[in-house]
Order: sequence, then structure tokens, then C-alpha cells
Amino acid sequence: MNHSDSERIAAYLEKNNLSETSNINEANFVVFNTCGVRQMAEDRVYGQIHNLHKDKKSKRKIILTGCLANRKDVQKRLKDKVDLFFPINEFEKLENFVIGNLLEIGNLKLKISAQKISHIQESIAYLSINPKYTNNFQAFVPIMTGCNNFCAYCVVPYARGREVSRPHKEIIKEIKALVKKGYQEITLLGQNVNSYNDGKINFSQLLKKVDAIPGNFRILFVSNHPKDVDDEMIEAVTSCKKVCECFHLPLQAGSDEVLRRMNRKYNSKDYLKIVNKIKKAFKKNKPGKLFSITSDIIVGFPGETKKQFEESAKVMRKAEYDMVYFGQFSPRPGTAAWNMKNNVSKTEKARREKYLNEILKKTTSENNKNYVGKTLEVLIEKEENGFYFGKTRTLKNVKIPAAKKRLVGKILNVKIIKANAWNLEGKLN
Ligand code: SF4
Repeated sequence: MNHSDSERIAAYLEKNNLSETSNINEANFVVFNTCGVRQMAEDRVYGQIHNLHKDKKSKRKIILTGCLANRKDVQKRLKDKVDLFFPINEFEKLENFVIGNLLEIGNLKLKISAQKISHIQESIAYLSINPKYTNNFQAFVPIMTGCNNFCAYCVVPYARGREVSRPHKEIIKEIKALVKKGYQEITLLGQNVNSYNDGKINFSQLLKKVDAIPGNFRILFVSNHPKDVDDEMIEAVTSCKKVCECFHLPLQAGSDEVLRRMNRKYNSKDYLKIVNKIKKAFKKNKPGKLFSITSDIIVGFPGETKKQFEESAKVMRKAEYDMVYFGQFSPRPGTAAWNMKNNVSKTEKARREKYLNEILKKTTSENNKNYVGKTLEVLIEKEENGFYFGKTRTLKNVKIPAAKKRLVGKILNVKIIKANAWNLEGKLN
């Protein structure tokens, strides 16, 4: 989501006669679009801003948005170094600041673009800006922003506010334009993507509308909340032809007690029921096709005992994931978990992550064996050292000896010849 927001910020600034520079020392404006999910990311921002600020002669303006922009402690810490803090859903603050400063530095060519958006009151308005896509074959399309769930560890509801969905007609228009330009992969984005509802249609209905857009492209979506996965959604995901056979379903923890303290609003039994329904539906609606289920798990949430942690391992073995993104719990200011006792040591968190990673390695190795001998569509994402690297529709990484032609950005038929734990190897068919 932050990546997509950055594309919109860049587009807005360019519309106002500013151009991007690869040399930060030449910049009049430096915009930090921050992520506050992990302390490490936060510390990097402090370091970079501190380094920029050392140059006392520079007139450059430093702007900070994203997760950290609303945090009082961050504003206090950086008050002498940052010229503007603006939460992304208050885009008009950036607009007013940039206009004021361009006039001050004598940019006489300044024109207020047709994309001036401050008259639109809603926090979703900035999403209507046409972004400056950073890639010409994969695009991220935000369909909603914000979150109402208040998971105990998460900063998103504080950083982005409550859920707001974009009008579906605007989303369809953006995707149609991307498909016309030849984009091969469209990822629908939202903090809680499957609670999309613009007052007219829900997420399943939107998925069907996007699927019906003519053209040869793939559809992905992130990130789901299990509590908003219903039968209608499972049916839509598993039956729409362009929607990839990959379902991301964050578990976060396998222990019902930890899930309760995380405020996740489901238990492990409900969760596994959904996993089984998804597997059954893929088999019924796309017979013979490979599919994958992926997840996010946090280790070392405050108070997570060894026995409770073992519940995460149990669910992992049953779900047989194709990928899991692990996070070691890190307390974030302002969240409910900030006040809980962070009593699992760093060493123990690392041990738990390693333990779960071994389980994942077993399930991915087993699942990946099913790919050998099959010819699959692979979107080629990059070429390096004589190899293409791409992804199947189930989001498996594939390494392929490169052809003479430049085929990056194309969907090609690839025969899988070898399965490893973390990737597949193939050859062009
Ligand atoms: S649903 Fe996702 S975005 Fe919302 S609070 Fe929970 S983890 Fe954060």
C-alpha cells in the first residue's frame, strides 16, 4: 500500500512541475513515506533524516507521511528536522505545502494541475490521482484504505484511520486503462481488502467485475482478514478465470488465547475450516489446477507460552502452506500491545521463527513436487546473469535459463523441471 501511495505522491508532484532526481542532494523536496510496522524500518527513517539534516546550508524541505506521520512521539523527536508531517489521508496538507513552497522558491512555471484534489473532502480522495507506475507490466491498484479491526499489535487503524472504499467505477476505469497499456498483472490492494464495500458492491462482486474486463492479465489481491472470508468470496476467488490460484490468509497465531489477546476475532478451528473450504473450492472450480495458500504469523506475542506457540506449529502442519511471512513481535507505540509485557526474549523469538520455518520448508518441498513435469504460465519479472526470474499463478518463484530475446514483463509457458523448497526451476516451452 505504501508503494502505491508513493506512486501517487510522485505523480502529484510531477503534475506540479517537479521532477524526480536520483541524487537526494539535488532535491528541493524529500518525501519520506514511512512504515511503522517494525522498529528497524522506523530507525532507518531517523537515520536518513538525521543525515540529510546535517547539511545546514541546504534549503531542501523534508516531508514525512505514512505510518509515522500521526505519531506524537515521532513529531516531537523530528520537529526541528521535518518541515511537514502529513497523514496520507490528509493529502491536501501536502498540496498546500508544495504550492506555498514552489511560489517561495520562484517556480514561475507552476501550474495547479487538473489533479488538484483538496476540494474533495473524503480521506480516500488522493487515491483518484493517476499514479506514476514504477513498473510497466505489474500494477498495484488500491481499492480501499484504513482499517476498523484494531488488532492489538498493529498501527494501521491509527496511521490510516477507518476503512473507506473507492467507488468501483473508478477502480474499473483505472484497471481498464492499465490493461489497454499492456499490464499483465493487477494487484488489488487494501489493508483489509476483502471488507471492500463502496455502498453498491462488495469485494466478491468487484472481483467478478474486474475478471470480466477483456484482456490477457492476472488478478491478485492483498491482504485478507479471515473474519471477512465468506462462502461468496471463496466462490468468487476460486471460479474467476483471471484471479490467480493463490489465497493469502493471515493466521498470526495458532493459539485461541493469543488470538483473543491479539483481537483477531476468529479461533484456530474457524480458521482451519476456511482453509479446508478454500482447498475444496479450488478442486471443484478449477479441477486439476495447482493452487497455493499463504499466510502471516507473528512469533513471541506478549505472553505467548511455549505451549501456545506450539499451536501455531500445529495449524501450520494442517494448513500445509506454500509460503508464510513470519514476524517477530515488536511493540509499536500507541497500540494495545504496547502496554502488554513483551516477555518473550529476542533469542526465543528467533528460535520460534526458525522452528516454524522448518515446518514451512517441509510443506513447501512437498507441495512443490507437484509442479515437476507441468507446463505453467510464468510472468517473467527480471533477467539476471543469464536467467529469467518469474512467478507462476500460485506465486511460486521460478528460475529459467534466459532466451536471446528480452522477455521481461511477458507471461510465458514454462516447463517445470526441478522443485526446490523455496523455488522451482524450469525451461521455456
Ligand atoms: S486487520 Fe490488518 S491492518 Fe487491520 S488492524 Fe489487523 S493487522 Fe492491522
